[in-house]
Amino acid sequence: MIKAVRGTRDLLPPDTALWNFVEATARDVFRAYNFQEIRTPIFEVTELFARGVGEETDIVAKEMYTWEDRGRAESDRGQSLTLRPEATAGIVRAYIEHKLGDRGLNKLYCIGPMFRRERPQKGRYRQFYQIDAEIIGPPSAGSESPARDAEVLEMLATLLDRLGITNWNLQLNSVGTPTDRVQFNEALRAALQPVVGQMCADCQRRAVTNPLRVFDCKVPEDQSVIETLPRITQFLGEDSRKHFEAVQAILAKVGVPFSLNDRLVRGLDYYTRTAFEFTHGALGAQNAILGGGRYDGLSDALGGPAAPGIGFAIGEDRLVMSLQEKTPAESVLRKPDVYVAPMAGMNGDAARLARELRRHELVVELGDDAFRLKKSFEAATKVGAKYILIVGENEVKADAFALKNLATGEQVSIVRANLAAWLRSNRG
Ligand code: AMP
Repeated sequence: MIKAVRGTRDLLPPDTALWNFVEATARDVFRAYNFQEIRTPIFEVTELFARGVGEETDIVAKEMYTWEDRGRAESDRGQSLTLRPEATAGIVRAYIEHKLGDRGLNKLYCIGPMFRRERPQKGRYRQFYQIDAEIIGPPSAGSESPARDAEVLEMLATLLDRLGITNWNLQLNSVGTPTDRVQFNEALRAALQPVVGQMCADCQRRAVTNPLRVFDCKVPEDQSVIETLPRITQFLGEDSRKHFEAVQAILAKVGVPFSLNDRLVRGLDYYTRTAFEFTHGALGAQNAILGGGRYDGLSDALGGPAAPGIGFAIGEDRLVMSLQEKTPAESVLRKPDVYVAPMAGMNGDAARLARELRRHELVVELGDDAFRLKKSFEAATKVGAKYILIVGENEVKADAFALKNLATGEQVSIVRANLAAWLRSNRG
C-alpha cells in the first residue's frame, strides 16, 4: 500500500469543514480591514529564500525542499528551485515585481501550504498550512507607523475571538533595527565567548555568523546559558524604543492584552522592531499558533524599493487543533437537508426535483432507483439527512411529496411549488 509521505497528511471530512470555517472567518475579518487576497506560486527560486529569510536561519540552513530544475530550455536547466517554506518572501517578491506599491495594493493576504523538512510530531508537519497577511508599502504611505503594527495585532485578536479561541496569549518584543543590532551583536558575541564552548554545535556556529539566532536554540541544556545573555531591548535606539512604546500604547487603548517577552526573536532574519507570537495553552510543546513581525528592510534586501512592512503567519494546522476541542467539525458541517429517494424507474424525475431544490441552496443527497425503500432509508440516515423524500409515480402525478423527518418519524405532504420554501424554513 502506498501511503502519504512522512510529515504530510490528508485532511479529511468532516475536519475539512472546520478548515473551511477557519478560512471563511479569516477572509471575512480581513475584508473588514480592507485586505485583499494574493496567491503566489508554491515554488520560487532558492535565492529568494536565502536572501529573504536568511542563510543562517534553521529554515534555510536545514529545512528547505530544494532541487535543481531539469527544464528543457537552456535558461531553466540547472536553476535551483525551492518549495516555499514561508509566504512573506514570495509576497514581497510579487510586490516588487508588479509594483504593487504604485497601485496602492498594500494590504495582502495569502492562504496555502508551506514546506519545511522538520522532524514531524503532533502539530509539526513537513507540509503545513499558513494564513498569512502583510501590510507593506512605500514609507510615504505610512507603512512604518506603529499604528500599522497595532492594527495587525488587533485584527489577530479579533480573528481569534471570532473563532471562539479565548485563552490566547500575545507575546511581544522589539528586535530593533540593523543599526541597533550592531552594538547588541557585539555585546552578545562578548557574552557568548566564555560560555559558547558549553553550548550545542549550532549555537557555536551561530555565535560566529549570526549571534541573535542563538535565541532560537531549543536545546534544553543551552537554556540556562541563554538566560544570562544580554537582551536586544537593552540596545534599542531612541526611535525603536519610541516605536515599540507607541505600539504598546495603542494596544492598551484598544484593549488587546499582551505580555512582553525579551527573548522572542523569531527564527527569520528579516524581522526589524516589532516581533510577536500568539500562543495557546491547549497545544502543548508546539504552542505557537501564529507569529509575525515587522520587516522594514526586506524589500530593499530583495532589490526592491524601500517598502517597510509588517505581517504574520498563522499556523492553520495548529489553529484548527486548538479549535477542535470546543468546536467539533460536525458543528460547522452542513448535513443534507433532504435525501431524495427515487422509486423504481424514477431516477429522471428525482434528478429533476433535486435540481430544483439545489437551486434554492438546499443541500440535497440524491439516491438511486435501484435501491429498495429500506436501503434508501439506511442511506439517508448514514449521510445524516434531516428529511427523506420519496419520488414515485403517484407523487409526481399528484405534484405533492411526502417528507419524513428521519429523527422524529413525523411526516408531512407538501405540494411541489412549496417544497423548497418549506425545507428552507425547516432546516436543521
Ligand atoms: P513561522 O513562519 O516559523 O514564523 O511560523 C508561523 C506559524 O506557523 C507558527 O506559529 C506555527 O503555528 C506554524 N508552523 C510553523 N512551522 C510549522 C510546521 N512545521 N508544522 C505546523 N505548523 C507550523
